[in-house]
Amino acid sequence: MSTTHAASTILSRYEPVIGLEVHCQLKTESKLFCSCSTSFGALPNHHTCPVCLGYPGVLPVLNKKVVDFAAKMAMSVGAEIHPNSVFARKQYFYPDLPKGYQISQFDKPFCTGGGIKLEDGHYVRLARIHIEEDAGKNVHGDNASYVDLNRAGIPLLEIVTEPDISSPGQAADYLKRVRAIVRYLGIGDGNMEEGSFRCDANVSLKPKGSEKLGTRAEIKNLNSFRNIEKAITYEIFRQADILDQGEQVLQETRLYDAATGKTQSMRSKEESHDYRYFPDPDLPILQVSKERIEAVAATMPELPDAKTKRFVETMELSEYDAQQLTQDRDLAEYYEAVLARSSKKVAPKLAANWILTDLMHVVHDRQWNFEPCPLQPERLAELLTLIAEDTISGKIAKKVFEKMIASDKSPRAIVQEEGLVQISDASEIQAVVEEIVAANPKQVEQFQAGKEKVLGFFVGQVMKKSRGKFNPALVNEILLKCLKP
Ligand code: ADP
Ligand code: MG
Ligand code: ZN
Repeated sequence: MSTTHAASTILSRYEPVIGLEVHCQLKTESKLFCSCSTSFGALPNHHTCPVCLGYPGVLPVLNKKVVDFAAKMAMSVGAEIHPNSVFARKQYFYPDLPKGYQISQFDKPFCTGGGIKLEDGHYVRLARIHIEEDAGKNVHGDNASYVDLNRAGIPLLEIVTEPDISSPGQAADYLKRVRAIVRYLGIGDGNMEEGSFRCDANVSLKPKGSEKLGTRAEIKNLNSFRNIEKAITYEIFRQADILDQGEQVLQETRLYDAATGKTQSMRSKEESHDYRYFPDPDLPILQVSKERIEAVAATMPELPDAKTKRFVETMELSEYDAQQLTQDRDLAEYYEAVLARSSKKVAPKLAANWILTDLMHVVHDRQWNFEPCPLQPERLAELLTLIAEDTISGKIAKKVFEKMIASDKSPRAIVQEEGLVQISDASEIQAVVEEIVAANPKQVEQFQAGKEKVLGFFVGQVMKKSRGKFNPALVNEILLKCLKP
């Protein structure tokens, strides 16, 4: 049985229900409750102090910037920021948590509500966003295990959805959107491989049409969009199998193994009462004033949805192109930088096409970034200007583009050196056209008998003779005149 066939029969009987919990590291300079540095890659335990090492008798002091970052996130998804929220201790024992508890928020989180609209129009409601500290990291060597507490106390936002997602594809789309927002806001780098943007997926199945949610499994260790889709898909198959046999899905935490593509049981799921949450007596209630929210609101950048709308409305881009360009802030800024440096004759659509196809290939092949992009916006703008001003044809431009990437020379210099300037001299074109027409009487007959496709043959011959340098629009025009009976 093919996978897709199996999937469609599962989906005719069961509805997948998915809720996601995202942990996003905030890009502050210092930790949540102490002044230790948050920078990545230091020697183990070099960014620590009595507070984040969990010594007794020390007092946490809240980093204000975290509150502003959390407020930005809340505003960008339309969540309600609570004037009072409470830090709570979440108790558990683990070597990377020397205090024996994590400072988080529980029944009074920073904000609730809001949501994100997906590409397919589906709206995912958010349950809550709260502030918490990260734990340290256990490092397992050959003969021993170590604890690195550099990460302990780094601020996180936990962003929790309602169980509103119904397919692996929607889950990946949701995450891409959350990550884009985080990066647009500049509050996190959203790097999944480095673990600064992590996701747990809660997955359950319910009989089609049923209101009641099934028992969920929570999958951890999802460190790429691809793995998230694969893990959820695997989990849907696994649970359908169990339910088909009349058995029960266990409420448990499972780990995804990218090597096998499977999830495996890690531990039975703890309930919130296992953590014995209570308000942290060392921290006052977190009060967020109206003035503070207004001040943060004034610093909000244009977000992906608004940017998409603007691109569609003011640049006549398709919704699809606009979405592609705005999925990443650096890419969107690159695109606007190219347009700003191009001649007014360059249509936004032309710039979008070049960036989303030609440049994107190079970016993927060479693993480039857009901030900064090794091909500076000036350079691409110059190339587009040469096309728009009819100095070179689109076809020649592809060659120039390749040479620009390989040589770091400016497009103008390449065009000059290689003599690629487009020829728009009508009499020069006319001479070649006449020559080609005279040499191909049979095709002329066919054209005049109504076989208009033959025009393409003539254009090809003339362009070939000019080594691609004739202005194609003029070639067409002159050919049509000469071919008229
Ligand atoms: P916990 O901390 O125990 O994981 P949370 O309430 O913080 O609990 O998060 C639970 C997540 O699981 C939320 O995203 C929620 O939407 C989702 N969820 C809850 N029940 C189900 C279910 N039956 N099936 C799928 N997802 C669920
Ligand atoms: Mg959870
Ligand atoms: Zn510290």
